[in-house]
Amino acid sequence: MTDETPICSAKGCRVDAVWVLAWNNPKLHTPDRRKTWLACEEHREHLSQFLGVRGFLKDVVLLTEWQNPGPS
Ligand SMILES: [Zn+2]
Repeated sequence: MTDETPICSAKGCRVDAVWVLAWNNPKLHTPDRRKTWLACEEHREHLSQFLGVRGFLKDVVLLTEWQNPGPS
């Protein structure tokens, strides 16, 4: 772990990430594999749509929850 704040994955965006988008490209990845993009509040919808229309999007989770999953 580092102290650096994760930054939004959107092109040219330097805003702190709030969301984690977990996705999988079935042509490239095994089904249990998860790639992640980070998104700020503004770009969450844009990035979700980009992945969603391709059928890649699996999950959208708050960054705080992604890093610290609660007891389950
Ligand atoms: Zn952004």
